Amino acid sequence: MITSHKATLMEGDGIGPEVAAATLRVLEAAGVEVEWDRRLVGAIARDSLGALLPEETLESIRKHGVGLKAPITTPVGEGFPSVNVGIRQALDLYACVRPVKTIPGVPARYDDVDLVVVRENTEDLYAGKEHEVVRGVIESLKIITEVASTRIAEFAFRYAIGNGRSKVTAVHKANIMKLSDGLFLESTREVAKQYPTIEYTELIVDNACLQLVMNPHQFDVILTSNLYGDIISDLAAGLVGGIGVVPGANIGTDYAVFEAVHGSWPEAAGKNIANPTAMILTAAMMLQHVGERAAARRIETAVHEVLRRGEVKTDDLGGNASTDEFTSAVVEMVNAVPAAG
Ligand code: NAD
Repeated sequence: MITSHKATLMEGDGIGPEVAAATLRVLEAAGVEVEWDRRLVGAIARDSLGALLPEETLESIRKHGVGLKAPITTPVGEGFPSVNVGIRQALDLYACVRPVKTIPGVPARYDDVDLVVVRENTEDLYAGKEHEVVRGVIESLKIITEVASTRIAEFAFRYAIGNGRSKVTAVHKANIMKLSDGLFLESTREVAKQYPTIEYTELIVDNACLQLVMNPHQFDVILTSNLYGDIISDLAAGLVGGIGVVPGANIGTDYAVFEAVHGSWPEAAGKNIANPTAMILTAAMMLQHVGERAAARRIETAVHEVLRRGEVKTDDLGGNASTDEFTSAVVEMVNAVPAAG
């Protein structure tokens, strides 16, 4: 059955347009009709519309409630502020959800990793409040509030309940940042008390990194603040085959924007070598969010089956298939998976 949805599409830059195009081919093959409202963000938007994050792009996401975003380049150091962070803050997409799961056939350090990183998305050092105190001294403000910490903790526990997960681990550095991370932890503990069926544990962030590398199977839901969550997401992605295969979502009360963990990989732009898996699985998360569970499952099954067979894989996974060739294999597999799948 073909159902129609409306959503904002931001194709990004670097490898963004290529992985976005691949994703649209797969969605179409799965019979999900999405009326895309294509909007610009980043340097392309600045050049043609005079703003990195045009109000009309935000307005489009507000109107449709859902957006799919390919990666955008943010220059390091000097240059413009992160548009990704701008979108999350402008739409109050406070929860970043990144499921990290072993995919059979994808070369990885461990089998059977299955964890989810839930990262606070709106504050911490990402508040972007930096200033020069005196020449040669810069201050970056780490903002942690009780409201945002409580809200993300509630999200993580609700997510655990709703997704059959049994444990939440709060990751922090409250031994050093006693006030800021201390408040994050205190708020989390209060929320944990309301969910007695979910096991609650805490780890200091450096130990959490060690534990992830040594024994990732002990983790279920990792709840953490913005910067630690960013780093831990990439670390965890490295455990299951790299950031080419890990999807993600930014969820708020009213809107959601779906984006993969990986960035725009500018060096690979236009080369047709990027792995579109992460973006395709990200779109599957979006489909789940809009109630298209069967289509989401069908796409996931098809991607996993192509990867499991291992005949067509991109360079990052040890193969030599192009983005287009891999996408064609997934499209073919989607057609082979029963629609009720
Ligand atoms: P990156 O994710 O773009 O690339 C890091 C490495 O990961 C690449 O060298 C490549 O080896 C690998 N990689 C990334 N995506 C891949 C894919 N689809 N298939 C195969 N391999 C892949 O990270 P970076 O180099 O730190 O950042 C580049 C730019 O992307 C920066 O401007 C950064 O700000 C931006 N960025 C954007 C987002 C986003 O839009 N959500 C997220 C992270 C980084």
